[in-house]
Amino acid sequence: MAYVSRAERLKTLFPNEPAFRSKQAEEALFAARTRGWEDVRALPKAVRERLAREVPWTSLREVAVVESAHKDTFKALVEAEDGARVETVLMRNARGGWTVCLSSQVGCAMRCAFCATGRLGLARSLSADEMVDQVRFWQAFLLSSSHPGRISNLVFMGMGEPLANYENVKSALNTIVAHTDIGPTHITVSTVGILPRLEQLLVDKDWPSVRLAISLHSANPKTRKDIVPTSYGDFLPKLLDWTRKYLVALGNRRHHLTFEYVLLCGVNDTDEQADALATFANAAGHARVNVVPYNATDGAFARPADAGVRGFVARLEGRGVTVTVRRAMGDDIAAACGQLAASHPTDR
Ligand code: SAH
Repeated sequence: MAYVSRAERLKTLFPNEPAFRSKQAEEALFAARTRGWEDVRALPKAVRERLAREVPWTSLREVAVVESAHKDTFKALVEAEDGARVETVLMRNARGGWTVCLSSQVGCAMRCAFCATGRLGLARSLSADEMVDQVRFWQAFLLSSSHPGRISNLVFMGMGEPLANYENVKSALNTIVAHTDIGPTHITVSTVGILPRLEQLLVDKDWPSVRLAISLHSANPKTRKDIVPTSYGDFLPKLLDWTRKYLVALGNRRHHLTFEYVLLCGVNDTDEQADALATFANAAGHARVNVVPYNATDGAFARPADAGVRGFVARLEGRGVTVTVRRAMGDDIAAACGQLAASHPTDR
């Protein structure tokens, strides 16, 4: 059966009063303490009953939720109507709020050598509703748990390559920005760097002003190709060109650009690699580097020792690069970057 989005279903349900009713219904989806259509008291009873029959309240069913030992990270395995499963993560952030890490696809076609999701291959892209419902899932989870605080940030850093699912990600972003108090500068879309889509978003009036993070992982073309197989000969110079255009078109504090760099012992953590990265980041202009020490997956990689991470960072900083180091969260429950594979102890 062809997929029909919730917004379309709502529109066809109220042909005579579409704008008003469908807007009311859509807003109700994000109201606190509303668990289903029957709770939406603003709607007449007959309308509530009709909605309950015809429009699923959510596109995702909870399969399992696990909590990290530090109690600051939760990972949920959720299932879509067709049985597809993805993982989504809730993390406490430094400002006392919560960050949701969203999946954009079931699996991923990019096959980055160090990433557990890449090993699954791609089953399908998620619909906009399925991405929005990951946020709603965690909103409901926080309300029904004893954990205080609100969701303040979103990162599209779960399973999948968001820009390989451009239209649905855009639609999900616009819905989230319209119906929650999470502003676009608190949302980051992380991409392996699909250049045609990066070009597209520069001129796309409907692409919201969210932040972008680009998974660089090496400024050496051969090393990058080895670990990010979708890379190609002139990817790096082309990315540099794009970055300059981006900074001219959208470059201000809201749009600062981040290069992510998963640090792999002996692969991309040498002095030469640090120098190449510094040259690239400086040539790119106002970009910062986010170093992500490797989280264990089944791959043949290792995380550098802490001293190695510090040395790498110091070398970049010595060359004028702004660097942050991502703290691994939830690695004891395989919820850290690159560990999402939608397998759960109860499945095995
Ligand atoms: N497809 C998107 C989102 C991937 S997940 C992208 O490529 O950006 C977000 C980040 O985690 C990416 O930078 C990704 O390269 C990184 N990552 C993947 N596997 C990892 C691992 N095992 N350890 C640390 N970071 C990892």
